[in-house]
Amino acid sequence: MFNKRIKVKELLAMEPQGQEVTVMGWVRTFRNNQFIALNDGSTNNNIQVVVELGSYDDEFLKRITTSASLKVTGTIIPSLGKGQKMDLKATSIEILGDSDAEKYPLQPKKHSLEFLREKAHLRFRTNTFGSVFRVRHALAFAIHKFFNEKGFVYMHTPIITASDAEGAGEMFRVTTLPLDGTAPKNEDGTINFKEDFFGRSTNLTVSGQLEGELGATAFGDIYTFGPTFRAENSNTARHLAEFWMIEPEMAFYDLEDNMNLAEEFIKYIIKYAMENNREDLEFLAQRLAEEEKQLPQDKRSEMGLIEKLEFVLNNNFERLTYTDAIQILKDSNHNKKKKFQYEITGWGMDLQSEHERYLVEKHFKKPVILYNYPAAIKAFYMRQNDGCAEGQQTVAAMDILAPGIGEIVGGSQREERLDKLEARMKEMHIPIEEMWWYLDTRRFGTVPHAGFGLGFERMVQFVTGMTNIRDVIAFPRTPGSAEF
Ligand code: ATP
Ligand code: MN
Repeated sequence: MFNKRIKVKELLAMEPQGQEVTVMGWVRTFRNNQFIALNDGSTNNNIQVVVELGSYDDEFLKRITTSASLKVTGTIIPSLGKGQKMDLKATSIEILGDSDAEKYPLQPKKHSLEFLREKAHLRFRTNTFGSVFRVRHALAFAIHKFFNEKGFVYMHTPIITASDAEGAGEMFRVTTLPLDGTAPKNEDGTINFKEDFFGRSTNLTVSGQLEGELGATAFGDIYTFGPTFRAENSNTARHLAEFWMIEPEMAFYDLEDNMNLAEEFIKYIIKYAMENNREDLEFLAQRLAEEEKQLPQDKRSEMGLIEKLEFVLNNNFERLTYTDAIQILKDSNHNKKKKFQYEITGWGMDLQSEHERYLVEKHFKKPVILYNYPAAIKAFYMRQNDGCAEGQQTVAAMDILAPGIGEIVGGSQREERLDKLEARMKEMHIPIEEMWWYLDTRRFGTVPHAGFGLGFERMVQFVTGMTNIRDVIAFPRTPGSAEF
């Protein structure tokens, strides 16, 4: 057996009393031919390995370079130096993998996030990305924990789908047909997808919701947590072409139940990270504070990262209707001084991210849930509200807007009434025949139900304070970029 190691995080929690341990990891720095800072990715803190002078020859010591991998056995003793609790006095050092420090792309100094994006295969070895991805892991774990505790069934919805009814964005086509012009054609010259792999035109999924509804109308409560794809050409700091989404779907839920669950859920996973990743969050908070020092005063956050997370945990999200939000925006000084790039034209307009951020960051200064949106700007499956004024038809939709991010959750109560749903689908030119399987849920024991989608990377951004979504997913896919 090779691996009898203790992880550095666990080691550093021990009281050093001369115990013998073995650690393995990568060299961060090596000072004075004597002190090795060894990191194994379990924490940003390194274990200081002390090499006894004279016990190794120069040839060997030269091979202990930044990023070389080592297996070290020794005893832990209280450290004489400041800055660490213990030293690992080495009795044996084995070099597992040499590394040419001259060629290693990461120097033991500060690199910009942009530079590290180009070295995404190695950036996990930095403190910032170590913290980000450990927090990402914790949030993913907390998500499963939350739903499991509530008795939800984790459902794996398909990644390849034939339904393009969602209308959430542009889709990536999945095909095995040749691209050299020899693909089979119909008489009118269009591609004949009957000859394609699935006998029809298929895409990468933009959302698992429609299939999720099939699960909810049998299990009661389900959630999905998987990759989704959008070929939208939006090069922003909060859009990816491949991102992960959590989509719970609940039978016997109305819009208010849906909002309650979403708020409880977000608070639960933040709390989990606060309790289990304190060290990483404190590191990220400090990193963010330093990053913000570069910004002009009025662009800096009013709260530090930890403070912001605590604030979110301890306060109710502001809930207001779309109609009220439009009124607030209209009446705002910001609008009167014509400071919005997109004009507030009035009821019926789609809110731009600057409007959402104004509501959250300037007006309410807390997360906001907007609900009851105009039907015309929302998807076909959202439940039509009863008793709306002429020309003011709304649907039971809700979006959760977070400070610094904007939309983090989109959800709705679903239209469970077959006649209303079909009428709406006709209006929006959704192919009713192709969606027979979806409509069957409304034919056979239909129930009020609701659900939402949380963009996982946006949540990770919110908790880690990373301003660019490319820095919270291991290998970002964005327009023009799919390296690694
Ligand atoms: P936006 O207006 O910000 O583009 P959307 O209205 O397209 O969002 P939905 O279709 O409601 O978003 O998707 C549900 C959630 O998925 C969003 O609230 C967001 O958190 C996340 N999301 C949507 N598009 C992306 C994307 N391209 N990259 C990362 N996350 C996304
Ligand atoms: Mn979008």
